[in-house]
Amino acid sequence: MKNFRIVAKDGKARVGLLTTSHGVIETPNFNPVGTQATVKALSPKDLNEIGVQMVLANTYHLMLRPGADLIEKFGGLHKFMNWDKPIMTDSGGFQVFSLGAALEHGGSKVLRKNTTPGVELKLHPRGVNSKPRLNKIIEEGVTFQSHIDGSKHILTPEKSIKIQQQLGADLIVAFDDHESAKHNYGEMQKSLELTERWGLRSLKEHKRTGVKLIHPPGGKLEQLMYGVVHGGTHKDLRVRSAKFTDEHFDAVAIGGIYGDKQTLCSIVEWVTSAVSEEKPRHLLGIGEVEDLFNGIERGVDFFDCVAPTRRARNGSLYICPKSGGKKSNSYTLNIRQSKFFSDKKPIDPRCNCYTCTNFSRSYLRHLYMADEILYHELSTYHNIFFIIDLVKRIRETIKDGEFKKFKRGYIDR
Ligand SMILES: [Zn+2]
Repeated sequence: MKNFRIVAKDGKARVGLLTTSHGVIETPNFNPVGTQATVKALSPKDLNEIGVQMVLANTYHLMLRPGADLIEKFGGLHKFMNWDKPIMTDSGGFQVFSLGAALEHGGSKVLRKNTTPGVELKLHPRGVNSKPRLNKIIEEGVTFQSHIDGSKHILTPEKSIKIQQQLGADLIVAFDDHESAKHNYGEMQKSLELTERWGLRSLKEHKRTGVKLIHPPGGKLEQLMYGVVHGGTHKDLRVRSAKFTDEHFDAVAIGGIYGDKQTLCSIVEWVTSAVSEEKPRHLLGIGEVEDLFNGIERGVDFFDCVAPTRRARNGSLYICPKSGGKKSNSYTLNIRQSKFFSDKKPIDPRCNCYTCTNFSRSYLRHLYMADEILYHELSTYHNIFFIIDLVKRIRETIKDGEFKKFKRGYIDR
């Protein structure tokens, strides 16, 4: 792939450089999620200070509010949200399917067996009332009702690509069907075949409409499109889907992940072993500390996840193992606990972020209990910084051939 170059390897873990119209991204890379064209509680100034290389915005939310036409009038998302580094958009499918249908049928993403007690890990922060209602999946696409005003919409591969072009993201995703964990093998296969047909239609539409011109610094926006690998927990379906995606697309995204940590590792391994070495790989919607290590170890380059921002809002703040973080609580402390009432230490004494160099656990806990806006800014800043910094350190260890040792010391201790 001409825009992606692998510069170092340690086992299957790799460091790469992806060139986009808005700059070069060093991988492995973690994308914070900016659902509504904002990473909740952080400004672009904060994101730059932290060293965020790219954000992910949600097509589903932005197409409903404020609408892709409006954002296009501003020259795309970069101008609208004043973020001049790379942006990725998803296809919109995940919100429509997973938040609508899959949740109703009890589907879920990676099951977190060992989460901090009391920490919400719902797929949608605002609960059942803010879920889109999925009406029908047909060959053409999927019809649904908006969670905002109940209005009826259809999302098709062509429409998803058009919206992602209007938004002007550097990395976009082909429209895909979403299996449910309750699907049997036959249903899973049918869903996969629909994803293949929709993938080809997404590609065709992207080629037909060509490169969209919307004012990046260099003048011309080149959009790299991911195809999405599905197939649930079936190895043969995952391998088939991986090969199909590799054959047709310049970049490979792995979607529809659910099950325990071991299942996640197996799925990633099946997929990364079946696709070309030189294409970027993105693990969609995954990005907890343990997942990052496990994914990178198996050759994943990109991650996105709402965990750091959502955890921060719920009082769940990352700490490294040397500061007391444990695998059993996903390397977090719960700032709501009374033991932090008068604790003068920063959240993580080993963290160099603005929050940790200036504020105590006691103050953070006070802000949380008083429901102050500043709590959200400081806590989110720390959580995003923590993950960005961890991934940066992982890149360094890959370059030094020390990744396995670092991983052992961090998550296998
Ligand atoms: Zn910090």
